[in-house]
Amino acid sequence: MALVLRCRDIGFDCDGVIKAENEEQLMKRVAEHAGDVHQVTEVTPELVEKVHEVVFEE
Ligand SMILES: [Zn+2]
Repeated sequence: MALVLRCRDIGFDCDGVIKAENEEQLMKRVAEHAGDVHQVTEVTPELVEKVHEVVFEE
């Protein structure tokens, strides 16, 4: 089982899908992806909240 997050679901116009084994890893990958692809260098509490709303398990 993995956590799956569609980048589009957190508000970016992006087909990226981020997968992780746990929440800690997920947030790390979200931060990396947001920084590399979307020039978002700060993971705000709002972004974290959004991630929690839309993440699902696969
Ligand atoms: Zn993205």
